[in-house]
Amino acid sequence: MSEKLIDRYNEVRAKIDETCVKCGRDPKEVTLIAVSKTKPLEDIEELIKYEVNDFGENKPQELKKKFDEVSVPVRFHQIGHLQTNKVKYIINKTSLIHSVDSYKLAQVIEKEAAKRDIFVDILVEVNYAGEESKFGVSKDEALGLVKEIASSFRHINVKGLMTIAPFVDDPEENRPIFKGMHELLLDIKSQNIDNVDMSVLSMGMTNDYVVAVEEGATMVRVGTAIFGERQ
Ligand SMILES: *Cc1c(COP(=O)(O)O)cnc(C)c1O
Repeated sequence: MSEKLIDRYNEVRAKIDETCVKCGRDPKEVTLIAVSKTKPLEDIEELIKYEVNDFGENKPQELKKKFDEVSVPVRFHQIGHLQTNKVKYIINKTSLIHSVDSYKLAQVIEKEAAKRDIFVDILVEVNYAGEESKFGVSKDEALGLVKEIASSFRHINVKGLMTIAPFVDDPEENRPIFKGMHELLLDIKSQNIDNVDMSVLSMGMTNDYVVAVEEGATMVRVGTAIFGERQ
C-alpha cells in the first residue's frame, strides 16, 4: 500500500474506471466517496489539494465539526445511522443523507428543512440481506417508504437507494445483493413517482466496491483502502 493518501485514492479511482470500461459503463457515472470517518481533518485537507470533493462521515457531530473547520467547501455525505435528534446539526451541511430508514426520520428532516427553506437530497437505506445488526428497511418495504416520503414531504428529494452489504471474505458473495438492489432501484424508478428520480445507487465498500460497480453502483463508499485501518 502506498504511503500517500492521494496515491491510494487514485488506485481506487483507477480500479473503478477500469471496471466501468470493462462493463460498458461511463466512469463518470460513478462517484467515489472517500469515507473519512474517525480520520483527522488533515487527511481531508490532503485530498482536497488534489480536488477530491466527496467525503463520507458516520457520526453527525463529526460531520458537523469537519464541515465547520474545512478550508474549502466540499461535499459531506451522511452515510451512518442518523437519529432524529441529530438531524438539526447536519441538515444544511450534508449534500446527501444516505441513511433514511423510517418515515419518522423523514418527518424530522422535512421539518428542519422547511424551517430553513432548503431542499434536502436523501437515499432510502435498505437492509437487503435482512441482517439483525443493521439499520434500513427491508427490500419489501422500500417502495412503500419512498412513496410515503415523496407524497408527504415537499422539502425532500428522494434520489435513490443505499445498502451496506454483509461483511464477507469473498466479495462475490455480495453480488446477488448488489444485483437485487439494482433491480429494486429500477422497479421503483419505473413507477415514475413525483420528486423521486432514483438515479443514485450507493453501495460497495473497500472489500466489495468492484463487484458493486459491476452491478450498477453509482456511488461507492470507500474508507480503509484510502485512509488505512481505523482504530
Ligand atoms: C465505514 C463505512 C464505509 C467504509 O468502509 P470501508 O470498509 O472502510 O471501506 C462505507 N459505508 C458506511 C455506511 C460505513 O459506515
